[in-house]
Amino acid sequence: MDFARHSFMAALTWLALAACSEPRTESAQFHVFGTMVEVILPDADPGQASALFASLQQEFQRMHREWHAWEPGELVRLNTAIQSGATTGTTPDILELLNLSQEMELRSGGRFNAAIGKLVALWGFHTSEYPVVGPPPSAERIASLLETAPSALAIELEEGALFSFNPEVQFDFGGIAKGFAVDLACRMIRRAGQASAMVGAGGDIRAFGSNHGAPWRIGVRDPSGGIAGGIEVTDDRAVFTSGNYERFREDAGVRYPHIIDPRSGWPVAAVPSVTVVAQDGARADAAATALVVAGPEEWLQVASSLGMDAVLVIDEAGRMQATPAMMKYFTPAEGREVEVVGRR
Ligand code: AMP
Ligand code: MG
Repeated sequence: MDFARHSFMAALTWLALAACSEPRTESAQFHVFGTMVEVILPDADPGQASALFASLQQEFQRMHREWHAWEPGELVRLNTAIQSGATTGTTPDILELLNLSQEMELRSGGRFNAAIGKLVALWGFHTSEYPVVGPPPSAERIASLLETAPSALAIELEEGALFSFNPEVQFDFGGIAKGFAVDLACRMIRRAGQASAMVGAGGDIRAFGSNHGAPWRIGVRDPSGGIAGGIEVTDDRAVFTSGNYERFREDAGVRYPHIIDPRSGWPVAAVPSVTVVAQDGARADAAATALVVAGPEEWLQVASSLGMDAVLVIDEAGRMQATPAMMKYFTPAEGREVEVVGRR
């Protein structure tokens, strides 16, 4: 999640437009995770919707505080404990984020790695101010961090207590937490009795049910501007995109994007835009990040080991490739072509 842009916390601006008691579309917006999270309930009782929005606000604030990679909170406390070699408990959410991160690290062959907080910080990406300006860190410092081989698998868990045998492990859930947050929000919305909802954060969404009988629609941005096409989902699906060009370091005309290849310690050079449609937000989010790292040659193979069948990749020249499963959801913008690749 991109906690990055706003260092101020979760200032809520939800606009619950409640008045009469007839079911109708209710929506709210939350400033959280450095982005705007929007919740749409197409068929809600206004009173229930505003109570639900109030609990969602609290939950989003809690998640933001708890999972922030550099502002004081539970994750910073946990990282400090790991660094000092201490065994410590943590929250159920962070334990689940750890489990998911381990799974995605294994399945992506280390392309997704939530334990590289030190590398992310070394590159200056623990900030709310973009672009970061100035020369990259020295190759020596990158190499020496890489030698410590940070991995989410380098932890031991016993009865909820946690210990890492690698004190260089520092968790940064920036690549997965937005997805996990969207999952938690959807769970709350369902529990509150809503049969349909859309939770969106920038271009990333999870949606279930329908939008008054119509599918949920989301535009896919072209990395070079404009809209590359649209995705329609019904049922319960997460749609996540990684690889935009908004967050990077810039030095002497060279851009170093905020997604780092954990195997080299360097930002990914050619950043395609990768969109994934999956069952849950956390895995979709992590997979999109991993597939940006995988790049043009390897994404198809890595997608398959991640269990992701619906993937769209747009390269920097605007060329689109998609899997057959993605073509069930994706319609290219007029005049745009998609090369369908991979097995049906
Ligand atoms: P996303 O926008 O979901 O692709 O996530 C990017 C964020 O995840 C970055 O801002 C970092 O905080 C973190 N990150 C960068 N590279 C990786 C990586 N290879 N694996 C996991 N997280 C990463
Ligand atoms: Mg991600």
